Amino acid sequence: MQYISTRGAAPVLTFEQAMLTGLARDGGLYVPESIPTLTEAEITAMAGLPYEDIAFRVMKPFIGETFTDAEFKSLIAQAYAGFGHAARAPLKQLAPNHFLLELFHGPTLAFKDFAMQLIGQLFQASLTRSGDRVTIVGATSGDTGSAAIEAFKGLSNVDVFILFPHGRVSEVQRRQMTTPAESNVHALAVDGDFDTCQGLLKDMFNDFDFRDRVRLAGVNSINWARVLAQVVYYFSAATSLGAPLRAVDFTVPTGNFGDIFAGYIARKMGLPIGKLVIATNQNDILHRCLTTGVYQTEGVTPSISPSMDIQVSSNFERALFDAYGRDGKAVAQLMDELKTTGQFTVSQGALQALREVFASGRVSEAETSATIKATLAQSAELLCPHSAVGVAVAEDHLGSNPMITLATAHPAKFPDAVEAASGIRPPLPPRMADLFQREERVTRMPNDRAALQALILQRISNVTTSNAAGV
Ligand SMILES: *Cc1c(COP(=O)(O)O)cnc(C)c1O
Repeated sequence: MQYISTRGAAPVLTFEQAMLTGLARDGGLYVPESIPTLTEAEITAMAGLPYEDIAFRVMKPFIGETFTDAEFKSLIAQAYAGFGHAARAPLKQLAPNHFLLELFHGPTLAFKDFAMQLIGQLFQASLTRSGDRVTIVGATSGDTGSAAIEAFKGLSNVDVFILFPHGRVSEVQRRQMTTPAESNVHALAVDGDFDTCQGLLKDMFNDFDFRDRVRLAGVNSINWARVLAQVVYYFSAATSLGAPLRAVDFTVPTGNFGDIFAGYIARKMGLPIGKLVIATNQNDILHRCLTTGVYQTEGVTPSISPSMDIQVSSNFERALFDAYGRDGKAVAQLMDELKTTGQFTVSQGALQALREVFASGRVSEAETSATIKATLAQSAELLCPHSAVGVAVAEDHLGSNPMITLATAHPAKFPDAVEAASGIRPPLPPRMADLFQREERVTRMPNDRAALQALILQRISNVTTSNAAGV
């Protein structure tokens, strides 16, 4: 399986190379040259299997010969061993035809753990084999950073630098990033919002000199391996509810479009998904784009669902690539337009192609809080604000197929917002109950690429020197 860039002008890579690279050198995102499909019999056979077995069957066609079957199975097993639920991604029923897919039983209590725990294992296996060392730099609105730090802390071939927007993440999110004591972990609080962090990251990737010097690797959802890991739970959930005999719909609380794009891939692989519903908070660029055809950035407004406070939805580029008939030049042109004018208009044909698969809805802050309260009363389920955005939008899109809404984080990750809405302060699970006693370690940084690059070079040269000295 080969991987190509959405902008059509970067080298074609193998799965392993695309995983270790992240962003393509032409600024695009890597996608598989073609999407493998599973037969109806293969999908039927997944019902009731352990999550790890479904993961192997879904991901195997995409990874080619990168790992032997035995090795890949063992990496998958290690990735999910630390989850706090035997089903890994359990389904709960909210209403007669509405289900909640709980994706928050991993070590940092958000769905990001599904992909990050796996790519931590894949990176380690690959780098141990080659003897290489990489520098991972990630931008986060809160959950990617904690999941990445949790997955990569203490690994010998990796330094991990996480940029998060200073003062704009929840205290639990911040502490999950700043309290790990491992010396290869570097939490950086940047003056700005998530888009500032993501912009700095993209600029670092486009500085080829720096990129090659530090062997920069990306673990944001621009990394194809992350999207791939998330395809799995669409299969586990849908087959639990009768797919492929019965089609299902999904609603996905959306920010950077990575999670819902994984659903799009599942659908292309042959899973009968009727609608994929994009749920946004007041930062609703995707909902506006699907409604009007104009993709226009407006500043980010902080919300009680901060992991979705995003205006530039990176993975949407992958959907556009398909909607434009895989024309990399057309996508590159749209992205140039976005960079220079802050907007672009999707062509009629492409918009129609997107609307065949995706629906969308937007939820206000008040509606989000009201949904937390109502769901607790009606279904005894305490939702995090992101999941509440999903449930509220899903309720407007219920039809004859079972609706599965993705619960993307544990309510205890956002205790203030949940308490304000429901009167209940959700406690942290016992395995992380001491989070507020641990010591924090963080570096405050300005919105300045040169300063960041200098810091990264200095920190990783410390590692090299101390290694050389045999310490
Ligand atoms: C990251 C995140 C989202 C948004 O997911 P995308 O893949 O960026 O669309 C939603 N909810 C939570 C809790 C998250 O951490």
